[in-house]
Amino acid sequence: MIDMHVHTNFSEDSKVLLEDYCAFALKKGVKYICFTDHVDFNPADAGLNCYKVDDFFESFYKVKKQYKDALNLLAGIEFGEPHLYMKEFEHYCTYPYDYIMGSIHYFYNNMFLSQMVKDNIDYKLAFKKYFEQLLLMVEYGNIDCVAHFDFPKRYYKKLYYEEETVRKICATMLKRDICLEINTSSIRKGMDQPMPGEELLSIYKESGGEYITIGADTHELSHLAADFDIAKDLANKFKLKNVIFIERKRVEVKI
Ligand SMILES: [Zn+2]
Ligand SMILES: [Zn+2]
Repeated sequence: MIDMHVHTNFSEDSKVLLEDYCAFALKKGVKYICFTDHVDFNPADAGLNCYKVDDFFESFYKVKKQYKDALNLLAGIEFGEPHLYMKEFEHYCTYPYDYIMGSIHYFYNNMFLSQMVKDNIDYKLAFKKYFEQLLLMVEYGNIDCVAHFDFPKRYYKKLYYEEETVRKICATMLKRDICLEINTSSIRKGMDQPMPGEELLSIYKESGGEYITIGADTHELSHLAADFDIAKDLANKFKLKNVIFIERKRVEVKI
């Protein structure tokens, strides 16, 4: 088992230490972990300036050495809106990461989605603004993968999209060699589909998409590689190839 989306105590919203994940992975039979802590520069973000890159790499190399015979440990980040923070993003690209995901967390008046739901911001408007930013992010490129492709779904508990925009995003991802994540965290929030689910995965496949990574968006030990069977079944259904990234190069791994 592989979890390509794992948050640790280097993210503001997780308290789990890297070594705790490693010990737990051995018990659970997870063979690959990619640590992907939040790096967000939106001034409204609770985790602003939380991530300490040098401290992360120090901890990372320590566990990598300690578990070298038992686990495959990868270093990554989940970078929020790289197209808006290009200078900062380019700086992070100079570190020896295996994997850099791009995420859209902020796309409407600097509000986070939970607040938008509380304030009754119309879901169609939210999805429209979200996909507009997602398109700009993939046009900028330079990322390995798009995280949680239909992220507003996790908060609104429903999906809305304009097919033309989604097709444009998928086409741009292929052009820029950007992979798609199947993120299972929506299932923990009571939904029966990961992000993205069947509908958008079929558009990705039709657009010529071939590769996916699978991530649980883990913030607690018990989330590690959670609900992967659902993601694997979908990947198999659409004949998508599961990949990991090592030194920012795609490597196919059978699931
Ligand atoms: Zn995220
Ligand atoms: Zn995440």
